[in-house]
Amino acid sequence: MKASLRKGGLRDVDSSLEGYTREQEDRAMNVILLGPPGAGKGTQGHRLSERYSIPEVSTGDILRAAVRQGTPLGQEAKSYMDRGALVPDGVIIGIVRERLAQDDTEGGFILDGFPRTVAQAEALTRMSEEQKRPIEHVLSIEVPQQELLQRLAGRRQTEGRRDDTDEAIRHRLEVYAHETAPLIDFYRRQGLLRCIAGVGTVDEIFQRIMVVL
Ligand code: AMP
Repeated sequence: MKASLRKGGLRDVDSSLEGYTREQEDRAMNVILLGPPGAGKGTQGHRLSERYSIPEVSTGDILRAAVRQGTPLGQEAKSYMDRGALVPDGVIIGIVRERLAQDDTEGGFILDGFPRTVAQAEALTRMSEEQKRPIEHVLSIEVPQQELLQRLAGRRQTEGRRDDTDEAIRHRLEVYAHETAPLIDFYRRQGLLRCIAGVGTVDEIFQRIMVVL
């Protein structure tokens, strides 16, 4: 509903909404995608990025590119990534700070895979205050564990990611439970959390997201 307000979709329907419509359009859409590995954050992030013409900032993609290019960052990150461990907070926070300072995020951004720890979330809060880019929505994509395991095993065959081995998958799910899941409460307390059922087709999940934005 508000998604269409943002695009001015209801302007002609009810001119009394005009003030509200303008306010919506002026605000940048700064969104966090939260969820375990295999929840579909990347897939939905791409869709949102296209829908709103704002960049998707995926820390996993940035790190994988650095590993491919063999940069110092890539060399440092690789051993953590291969075993499904988190890259140290200081490294990741620096990457995101630099990325969000780029002009293309002015109209909004979609964070996929960051924050993943309370320390990262606190740093993001500070950053978004400094850069005057408040987070508007945190979408928590929820998928039962059994389905996650099936999806990650399937992805291993199609994408051939080095961290989709049984051992690394198990470790990433544990890391999610211990380090990242506490962010659900962190953002719920701030009134930013929107829970999305992450099962069904990609379209169905995307429609659920559209309803809450
Ligand atoms: P992803 O593609 O988001 O599943 O990330 C792949 C891997 O990159 C993770 O298993 C971590 O090793 C690393 N990584 C990505 N984002 C972060 C983050 N915010 N904090 C720490 N490590 C990260």
